[in-house]
Amino acid sequence: MKPLRVFAALTTLGIAAMSHAATTPVLVIHGGSGVVRRDLNPARENEVRAALARALQSGYAQLKAGKPALDGVTAALTVLEDDPNFNAGKGAVFTHDGRNELDAAIMDGDTLRAGAIAGVHRVKNPILLARAVLEKSEHVMLVGDGAEAFAREAGVTLVDPSYFRTEQRWQQLQRALKEDRDGKPHSDVETAKHFGTVGAVALDAQGHLAAGTSTGGMTDKRWGRVGDSPIIGAGTYANADCAVSGTGWGEFYIRTVAAHAICMRVSLMHVPLERAAAEVINQEIPAMGGNGGAIALDARGHIAMPFNTDGMYRGWIGGDGVAHVAIYDDEGNAAADLAPVEHSRQ
Ligand code: ASP
Repeated sequence: MKPLRVFAALTTLGIAAMSHAATTPVLVIHGGSGVVRRDLNPARENEVRAALARALQSGYAQLKAGKPALDGVTAALTVLEDDPNFNAGKGAVFTHDGRNELDAAIMDGDTLRAGAIAGVHRVKNPILLARAVLEKSEHVMLVGDGAEAFAREAGVTLVDPSYFRTEQRWQQLQRALKEDRDGKPHSDVETAKHFGTVGAVALDAQGHLAAGTSTGGMTDKRWGRVGDSPIIGAGTYANADCAVSGTGWGEFYIRTVAAHAICMRVSLMHVPLERAAAEVINQEIPAMGGNGGAIALDARGHIAMPFNTDGMYRGWIGGDGVAHVAIYDDEGNAAADLAPVEHSRQ
C-alpha cells in the first residue's frame, strides 16, 4: 500500500479566550477531505471558498443570536447541502446503480440526543431530516423508504431524485464504472480521493456543543453501503466536552469509532483535544490503511482540524465574526490566521 502522507495539519486554535469560555460561540465546518491540488481549477476553488464562508456566516448568525449549537450546525450544513460543489444534498455522488443515496446525522452534546438517516433518495436536506428524527421521533436512526415516510409526516421537504444530479458527478460515476469493467482500481482523483462530505461542530453561548455530518457517501457504492457519517460515534459525535465530524474513508471511521474515540480521550482521559484528534486521525486510521480528516471542538472553544490527505475543505469562525476558510495543508493553520481572532478578544 502506498504510504500515506501525514501532514502536521493539526491545529488547536484556541479561538475562545479562556475568560470567554463557553460564552463566545464558535463554529467549525468541513467540506470533505482528500483534495488534490491539481484537481481544483481557480473558478471552482473560489466557489468552494465562497460557499464555506457563506455556511460559516449562516451558522454563526444563529449562534450569535443565542440559538443552540444544533441550530448553528443545521444552518451551516443546509447551505453546503444546497451547494453542488459538495458531496451532500445537491451534487452528491452517484451509486453504482446511478442514484443519489444520502446519509446524515446530528447530535446534541448537552443532552446526548441524536438523529440519523441513511439511504434516502428524495430528501432535499438530509440534515433537516436527521434533526427531525432527533426532535420528533423516539428513535435515533431511520433508513430508506421508512425514513422518507417519516420525512413526509414531519414536514421535511422531499424532491424528485433528479434534483440531486450534477453532470460532473454523473461523469465521475461513468469513469468509475469503466474502471470496474476494466477490472482496474478507481484511479480518478475525485472518485478515489475527493470525498466531499460536509460537517459542522458548534459551541453555543450556553457552552453547549453539537455536531452534524451529511454525505452522499462514496461514488459507485453498492448494496446499500452506508459509511461513517450517519453512524453516531463513527463520523458524528458530541457530548458535553467535545464535538466531532469526520470525513474520509468511512469504513475505517466505523471500525475505529473515530468521533467517539476522540471525545472519550478528551472526556475520560483528559487528553487535550489536539492530541486526541491527532491520535485517531493521523495515527490509528492511517495505521489501518484508511485516510481522511475531522473537525473537532471542545467546550472551551479549542479547535482541531487534522487530516492526512492533501487537503480538507474547512472553515472556522469565532468571536470576531470573521469567516476563516482553508483548503490545503499549508494554509489556515498558521499563527497569522489565529492572531486576529485572539487579538479581537483581548
Ligand atoms: N466518510 C464518508 C463515507 O464514507 C465519505 C466522506 O467523508 O466524504 O461515506
